[in-house]
Amino acid sequence: MYRKSVGCVTILTIAVLILGSLAVCGCKKSETAPKASAPPTQKTPATQTVATNAQTTCPVTGKKIDKNIYADYQGKRVYFCCADCKAKFSADPAKYIKLLEDKGITLEKTPK
Ligand SMILES: [Zn+2]
Repeated sequence: MYRKSVGCVTILTIAVLILGSLAVCGCKKSETAPKASAPPTQKTPATQTVATNAQTTCPVTGKKIDKNIYADYQGKRVYFCCADCKAKFSADPAKYIKLLEDKGITLEKTPK
């Protein structure tokens, strides 16, 4: 009884060792192969990037904003690309502010 179980464990141990060494071999092979062709990737950009997302595009058309065209709503300043967009914003300001803030844009505060 005792012997039998020991034998079982030994076989299992050997099997595990074989599987383990096979796995290590496979690992080593796959590790060396892509290393040669893999380009050095640098995911993190410049370290001193300002985290705030200032508004740069018109909430109506998505075009570049003109800092001379803006509207103030509930203490927030929203810029537009043209006066037409300002008119559209005025019809539903909350909608466009939500649109911008959903994009992670921090709107300028209305100067006091
Ligand atoms: Zn516009």
